[in-house]
Amino acid sequence: MFKVTAGDLKRSLFAAAVLSSIVIGAPALSAAAEPGNQITILYDAFGTDSAMTKDWGFSALVEVAGKRILFDTGDNAEILAANVKAKNVDLTKLDFVVLSHRHSDHMAGLSYVLSVNPTVKIYAPKEGFGIYGSSLPSSFYRKDNSLPPEMRYYGGKPPEIMTFGSAWPNARFELIDQTTEITPGITLIALISDAPGTKELKELSLAINTPDGLVLVVGCSHPGIERIVEAAASINPRIRMIAGGFHLVVAPDEAITKIVSSLKDRFKVESIAPGHCTGEPTFAALKQAFGDKYLYAGLGTSIPLGPNASSNVRRGEAPLLDDLATYRKLAARQDPFGVMRARNARLDARPGAKL
Ligand SMILES: [Zn+2]
Ligand SMILES: [Zn+2]
Repeated sequence: MFKVTAGDLKRSLFAAAVLSSIVIGAPALSAAAEPGNQITILYDAFGTDSAMTKDWGFSALVEVAGKRILFDTGDNAEILAANVKAKNVDLTKLDFVVLSHRHSDHMAGLSYVLSVNPTVKIYAPKEGFGIYGSSLPSSFYRKDNSLPPEMRYYGGKPPEIMTFGSAWPNARFELIDQTTEITPGITLIALISDAPGTKELKELSLAINTPDGLVLVVGCSHPGIERIVEAAASINPRIRMIAGGFHLVVAPDEAITKIVSSLKDRFKVESIAPGHCTGEPTFAALKQAFGDKYLYAGLGTSIPLGPNASSNVRRGEAPLLDDLATYRKLAARQDPFGVMRARNARLDARPGAKL
């Protein structure tokens, strides 16, 4: 007799659900790219959509693998609000927000985002004393027990962890201090700038690993677009697309030529959707180098991430790394955000350790 009771059915359904959740829960190497996946530019200083306001800054809605991610929030909350309305984008339904770095042209629209979605999770770089809030163990500062309590910090009894405020005290920040796969196939690449003017500035870039290669969204690329792409290539050497600001707005022609050829020939980036601080001469150089793989990304544009977006490009040109080897390489990397390196450099620079 094979009588199936409601209880049996429930149990077998439960077993199937457990099985499928195990499969889904296994470390996924890529996020599915589905039709309708796209990157919509909500904030930039060039574009053709007359219903939107052009302004210096960057914000993009990234829709991929069933996730809706707001990457950066532009320079002005009112302009972001108007542009979001013009594109009919619903910011109440977001999986998370990424703030690439602390510059106002990327984060000043956050107050609008929080006004419509106050509990959304926000990934931001972890900074020592920054606008996103932080903390430090009180052991960081030198003590002097010979002083009377009234001359000592916290009367000589500091809390174990000292916490520092945020410009948005009620926002749900999750601070990132090293490259992190925040959900299967979606990684925040954390790097630190070494360039004059932005030394020690931390920046997050968004890498989405799709079956057709990696989609990389960058804010300002202060750590250097080549360094960011190099880090992305260690996740998946096949870079399908890069969108965002490359920070070559004042770069001389030689530097532009070098970077364009590095993206094209060394990293074999398949298509490119530059915006924001990439720079006008760099737009021209990239357009010439990438031809029909240069994807216009002006304000209001939706760049499709459908499976056919890179169908004309031959596969297997980039060196393929064994996935396990890649993960081992990532796991073995010490101090990827350069925090310890920067701290040691500071300590070396002032042997007197005066604070
Ligand atoms: Zn910047
Ligand atoms: Zn910028």
